[in-house]
Amino acid sequence: MAGPRILAVEDEEDIRELIRFNLEKEGFSVTAAATGEEALRLSAADPPDLILLDLMLPGINGFDVCRALKREPRTAGVPVVTLTAKGEDADIVAGLELGAEDYIVKPFSPKVLAARIRSVLRRRDPGMTDDSAVLNAGGLSIDPSRHEVRADGRPVELTRAEFTLLHFLARHPGWVFTRAQIIDSVRGSDYAVTDRSVDVQVAGLRRKLGDSGGLIETVHGVGYRFKE
Ligand code: CA
Repeated sequence: MAGPRILAVEDEEDIRELIRFNLEKEGFSVTAAATGEEALRLSAADPPDLILLDLMLPGINGFDVCRALKREPRTAGVPVVTLTAKGEDADIVAGLELGAEDYIVKPFSPKVLAARIRSVLRRRDPGMTDDSAVLNAGGLSIDPSRHEVRADGRPVELTRAEFTLLHFLARHPGWVFTRAQIIDSVRGSDYAVTDRSVDVQVAGLRRKLGDSGGLIETVHGVGYRFKE
């Protein structure tokens, strides 16, 4: 039985073949593209289960490919994992803000590559999309309908913005969100949100949550993530 179908977009042949070899060994079915144009053509003709997308491509670059994929109804739902060079945090942020689901930094280990892809594919499974369901994670209980949070059974008083932020992150465990994405998610709450205030709110949240505060992880240079 063929595994999940991955479209790997990478202009450097060595890396492309390394990806193909390792993912096929892990049971994935891999199609490779060397350019953005080819990636768009292949994914429009037959959308894969996931697209692994190098951002630095000749011709149409990875950012424009990501934008085009997310705009096109046929491919908008296909998760995109970007490949970025080490130290290019701004590229990671830009990719996430264009709708990429996750990122991998080059050079990567084949094991990490396969694990990240599996994790992204797993997150797509429906079942935890009910926004009013009580969430339980690591000693934390979040009840959206009652606007109540408990840490190890102890009620925690949060502002509306803190609650919205926590609920947003906790609903998507393992996902990295940039500050701009977090701002979008808490917009409309009773707080003027800026990049800096996201950091302030996260710091406040962690303090109020005590031991459970560690569930909100800082991803340096990128943003925040709720522990998976
Ligand atoms: Ca490249």
